[in-house]
Amino acid sequence: MSLHDENRLREQIATLGKSLFDRGLTMGSSGNISVRTDDGGWLMTPTNACLGRLDPGRISRLDRDGGWKDGDKPTKESFLHMAMYAERPQSEAIVHLHSTHSVAVSCLPGIDPCDCIPPLTAYYVMRVGKLPLVPYHIPGDESLGDAVKGLAGRHSAVLLANHGPVVAGKSLEAAVYATEELEETAKLFLLLQGKNPRALTPEQVAELEARYPRD
Ligand SMILES: [Zn+2]
Repeated sequence: MSLHDENRLREQIATLGKSLFDRGLTMGSSGNISVRTDDGGWLMTPTNACLGRLDPGRISRLDRDGGWKDGDKPTKESFLHMAMYAERPQSEAIVHLHSTHSVAVSCLPGIDPCDCIPPLTAYYVMRVGKLPLVPYHIPGDESLGDAVKGLAGRHSAVLLANHGPVVAGKSLEAAVYATEELEETAKLFLLLQGKNPRALTPEQVAELEARYPRD
């Protein structure tokens, strides 16, 4: 990867991180972003970094095994990203947030652990699809990585119970947009609790999946 391309990616991580932070999708030093680089490694947001104030020059660089190469020390949740990438060679970027409405859904009783949010809108189906729930694990526990790995081959997005979403995309922009779509649909789902909403039918979902296949 040329220095120019890498610098462009670093700027893009900082710009999109600030955009997510400014709109309240992430707060404090929570949330992390990673992007695959041409040499088989990754750029990843550092540990204890606020996504609203990232310094592009200090973003962590990881080697192809996920080991820390240079920049600030990577997020302690890097294993979550590695677990997704291990099963998704087609994914170029991952966003993980503790976004309020998605976390709220992950705490609701009675949600379907194979598909946490019904297909309320076409764009949710096109960008997220079926969202499985990963059972709660204490943060940082490697068994959480194994649980994510078990689902990542079949799903570009998973929801960690009482924690938040992990969303992969074929570009950083695509991963951010899918994360935003998930958060907004989680908000809709919460607004509609107890109202018996009309979701898309299985036929409507199948039609969307045939016309707009996800990566
Ligand atoms: Zn987290």
